[in-house]
Amino acid sequence: MRTPSLSEDRAPLPPGIYLVATPIGNMEDVSPRQARVLRECDVVACEDTRHTGLLLSRLGIKRPLVSYHEYNETRRAEELARRAAEGERVAVVTDAGTPGISDPAYRVVRAAIGRGVAVVPIPGPSAVVAALSASGLPTDRFAFEGFLPQRGEKRRRRLEALLGEEHTVVIYESPYRAARLAEEVAALAPGRPVVLARELTKLHEEFLRGTAAEVAKELGRKVVRGECVFLIGPKRMEEDEEG
Ligand code: SAM
Repeated sequence: MRTPSLSEDRAPLPPGIYLVATPIGNMEDVSPRQARVLRECDVVACEDTRHTGLLLSRLGIKRPLVSYHEYNETRRAEELARRAAEGERVAVVTDAGTPGISDPAYRVVRAAIGRGVAVVPIPGPSAVVAALSASGLPTDRFAFEGFLPQRGEKRRRRLEALLGEEHTVVIYESPYRAARLAEEVAALAPGRPVVLARELTKLHEEFLRGTAAEVAKELGRKVVRGECVFLIGPKRMEEDEEG
């Protein structure tokens, strides 16, 4: 099926599922196209109606909201796809960033495709791309790992496998575990270049770059706050810590 285009001629939005990226912190990252889709859609499916209600009110937009999150995803996915199949324009957003990237939306996309409904990406911020692009680590090949298992053998084995990779690895990590992750990497590969990208697009945006040993030492001295992306450079970039 042909994807409808949002041409500059201001034609009305065709029916479909619109995956609308939203800011990961900085409200200036809302594009005119994102705002237009949110303004002209019939309904906005979101994770948290209060959070998205605030975003819409800052943009001066009033649209009906319907909640869509990991606990009602399966049921809602079918319902949203059906509504689009019946002619509605359904915008799907998450609390921050691009829908479907470590966030719900995959099921609604599948349900829509299953019904022959157009799925239209309205691209914009995503922490994975923002962090990678400014990390200074190779960007020609990278793997997005999302969230690691939180603890135990599963986490250690996953990390060992990732450290064997010859591409940059991008991990979403909670601030409470960021220092621990740096230590875990340092224990296995102290000379590996890593980057902690924190609070992207926000007032306290920070990139902490160095070998795993250096970054672990630095993070050991402070309390890590805010949202974090942790990046690990490819195996070939590992420095010999001995010297
Ligand atoms: N869909 C989002 C995206 O496209 O980036 C990701 C959602 S995921 C549930 C949330 C995680 O993304 C956070 O725990 C953090 O690892 C990362 N993240 C989101 N916003 C961020 C920011 N402003 N700075 C750093 N990391 C961020």
